[in-house]
Amino acid sequence: MNLILFGPPAAGKGTQAKRLTAERGFVQLSTGDMLRAARKSGSELGVKVAAIMDSGSLVSDDIVIALIEDALAQNKDAPGFIFDGFPRTVAQAEALDAMLAKHGKQIDRVVKLEVDSQKLMDRIAKRFAEEGRADDNPEAYKVRLDAYLAQTAPLVPYYEQQGKMRSIDGMADIDSVSKGIAKSLEV
Ligand code: AMP
Repeated sequence: MNLILFGPPAAGKGTQAKRLTAERGFVQLSTGDMLRAARKSGSELGVKVAAIMDSGSLVSDDIVIALIEDALAQNKDAPGFIFDGFPRTVAQAEALDAMLAKHGKQIDRVVKLEVDSQKLMDRIAKRFAEEGRADDNPEAYKVRLDAYLAQTAPLVPYYEQQGKMRSIDGMADIDSVSKGIAKSLEV
């Protein structure tokens, strides 16, 4: 089972991905986490993406596709993957389908966490106060939300046409969202 957790930034994808990893042994592939790790390590890639990430814009497709390609090669025996924050453009989704096909795999389910924008703003303000992530400041967050609407939302019809898209109420408490996801993976 390979699934994509889909939704705007701060919808709760990371939290739910970690739960699924703990419960089912799936491997979480978060391009945001990978890019933050690259920055922390001071690598050439990290230096290259820092300003783009802090502005809230998307880094180039080539960069994130290469990260996922490496991660898939390194985790050949994983019982399943949870893609979190990837794909974010149609080009990334097409590349993902092709990369998985090379390994004899496919995306089985796309679970969209629905959260209204006011709730997202409240969550992000809280996270900014607690963690101080540069791209959680209100200005950068607006750029991230706009990027989601313009570049990532077109993936909804992409996966709907494949019959893989399911929507969950992402405003419920964490346990209820987890239950909703579990149910969406059964059918
Ligand atoms: P996230 O933690 O998933 O919200 O990602 C943080 C930032 O990393 C984003 O605002 C982008 O700048 C960059 N990023 C993460 N994943 C992607 C992706 N799939 N495509 C382009 N940029 C990404």
